[in-house]
Amino acid sequence: MSSKRRPSWTQSIDAWMHRREGKMTRELEREKLSPHLPQLPTRLKPDAVTHSVCGYCSTGCSLKIHLRDEQAIGLSPHHRYPVNQGMACPKGWESLTVLDAPDRGTTPLLRNQEGEMQAVSWDVATQTFVERFQSVIERHGIGSVAWLSTGQIATEEMAYIGALAKFGMGWLHGDGNTRQCMATAVAAYQQSFGFDAPPYTYADLESSDVILLIGSNLCIAHPILWQRIMQNPHHPRIIVIDPRNTETAQLATDHFAIRPKSDLEFFYGIAHILLQNGWIDRDTINASTTGFEAFASFLQPYTAELASAASGIPVSRLQWLAETIASGERVSFWWTMGVNQGHQSTRTAQAIINLALMTGNIGKPGTGANSITGQCNAMGSRLFSNTTSLLGGHDFLNASHRHRVAERLNIPVERIPTSKSLAYDQIMEGIRDGSIRGLWVIATNPAHSWIHQNDARKLLQQLDFLVVQDMYTSTETAQMADLFLPAAGWGEKQGTFINSERRIGLIRQVKSPPGEALSDFDICQRIATAYGCESLLEEWRDPESVFRILARLSEGQPCDFSAIENYEMIAANGGIQWPLRPDDMAEQGTINPQRRLFENGQYFHPNGRAKFLFEPAQAMPEAPSASFPLLLITGRGTSAQWHTQTRTEKSPILRKLYPAHPYLEMHPDDAARAGLHNGKWVWVESSRGRIEVVLRLSNTVSPGMVFIPMHYAVTNQLTFPAFDPHSRQPSYKACAVRIFPKEH
Ligand code: SF4
Repeated sequence: MSSKRRPSWTQSIDAWMHRREGKMTRELEREKLSPHLPQLPTRLKPDAVTHSVCGYCSTGCSLKIHLRDEQAIGLSPHHRYPVNQGMACPKGWESLTVLDAPDRGTTPLLRNQEGEMQAVSWDVATQTFVERFQSVIERHGIGSVAWLSTGQIATEEMAYIGALAKFGMGWLHGDGNTRQCMATAVAAYQQSFGFDAPPYTYADLESSDVILLIGSNLCIAHPILWQRIMQNPHHPRIIVIDPRNTETAQLATDHFAIRPKSDLEFFYGIAHILLQNGWIDRDTINASTTGFEAFASFLQPYTAELASAASGIPVSRLQWLAETIASGERVSFWWTMGVNQGHQSTRTAQAIINLALMTGNIGKPGTGANSITGQCNAMGSRLFSNTTSLLGGHDFLNASHRHRVAERLNIPVERIPTSKSLAYDQIMEGIRDGSIRGLWVIATNPAHSWIHQNDARKLLQQLDFLVVQDMYTSTETAQMADLFLPAAGWGEKQGTFINSERRIGLIRQVKSPPGEALSDFDICQRIATAYGCESLLEEWRDPESVFRILARLSEGQPCDFSAIENYEMIAANGGIQWPLRPDDMAEQGTINPQRRLFENGQYFHPNGRAKFLFEPAQAMPEAPSASFPLLLITGRGTSAQWHTQTRTEKSPILRKLYPAHPYLEMHPDDAARAGLHNGKWVWVESSRGRIEVVLRLSNTVSPGMVFIPMHYAVTNQLTFPAFDPHSRQPSYKACAVRIFPKEH
């Protein structure tokens, strides 16, 4: 199956990998076996090798870093790591190149009275940080400052930031860019399972006989996971549910091109057919769930005919899909942003979870309701950023949780806020109404990535004080900063990431940061000292000390990894999935490298059961109209691009692998009606902004629908600011636009 179904780009990447890996292997053999051959230049010879988890996506591939004099000189994929098994995508291969970009921040910068950024010392920078934020707080209260963090830095760093901000400086509000990608999965799992707990292990991709990929362009977004599916020996049905005929849809066995944002009706319709035919697992439902009878009654109006009318999929195809799910022995459901970024995204994710629960496809090999997360450490952020949940997946609103955390950290319980932070969109609204006046932005780029970008930029300009901490001075947000703090990047510091399957992996320092740039950890230690709260964080000496604190904080929680003793234990085991409790070690003796949750049918709600959750489907917030007749969806462009391209645009190789100019995919019939021509520049306009893009005629989109990749700086000038009410995740995937030739 594999060679027929594999996309050409994976074959070329394989060839590229083999060439590079082969070259490295030949170099090593040559050194070892042939001392009489002409010698390679010294700069190409490694004198040591170490391993580090990749710093882009949540797949969590391990890379072998070749060192000379303790500095990285090259890398190749790690063959024995249980995640990537010797594979890496173009971004991983180019991880080192982007560290040498000329726009790296090498010294702190402070905007002077003339409005120019001026180099200052770290002492001046941290003193300014403290004085300006304290001045804002004195004038407007402690609730007037906030931070926006990221899923791109080490768990230990984000935990330090969260502890410093909330327990040390007493701030109330902080959120992360994980709100933009994974908040929905968090809310859905918390409500359905009682804890934010993605249940799977990647081996499930290789053991399913039916695989549903929902709103997931896996080939592009998580290419190594697609390769894992290609290794599946069971010849699975690969069923893609996505409005767009993506690369993944083209390679799947079946594609359901549902109308954008008809997901809820579609999945309720499938559930209705399963129920009507008795294709459900009564034993699982009775033993491990609550709310099924109410769900069954709720489903009555969601007939196959209704689902068909909403989604555009014929009734016969819906029946085929339900029957395929029912007859599969091991059915797994995987979703990403197409689900998470919607106006009813939490209920959509739960409609998928409901299908897994009602058919008994969870807690067994090859099954699961499985959210694949986005950023390399989104999972670390979910547990330890101290933003929406208290460290270790605890709850700020729960007094016993606050006491437990205070006791384990040896800090006064009064230091722990008794309320939740504002969410990202609420922080932005706080800037609008003047209640938020100071903002600290760490390794994220809201001036590019936040929905309704023109509005977001105006809001950022309104702030009394904006601090940006980043690797690069050139990001759209860094350009707006009053104070810029230069940060070390991946490869220039150590710590841990947690990948999508809950695997804790190590990142290592293999290069020195440029100039005076410091790790986010070191920057925060300096801020703690300048703020006068360093004694509270005395035990948080270095990343590994913090890792041990976090392991202690996790004890007794579903994410308990208190049996992980140190970094070396993680390295020796090829990463370790949570949970890993002392009892697990005593029982198992060794660590099984592929572990899934809920094998015992027990969930994390107090009664041990999972919940069926559901809600009527609502119309999309901004549907096409006479003035704006086309529906714009956004998504990933290529596997060589990452988010706002802060890093990927720095690599000459990656730049060759994606189109330089923003482009729009449009159905040829729509283009013909509008008199538009392939390859020409066109205007795309929504009621919020107008951008120029290159037109690409393509059957990847249906008539009435257009697509623009999210990575280009202009894309979010168009998007409509709607939010899921449960997760507060922005709905990037649907807004109304019109297109016209550029000469108008
Ligand atoms: Fe693996 Fe993701 Fe890194 Fe690519 S970007 S090498 S898929 S972790």
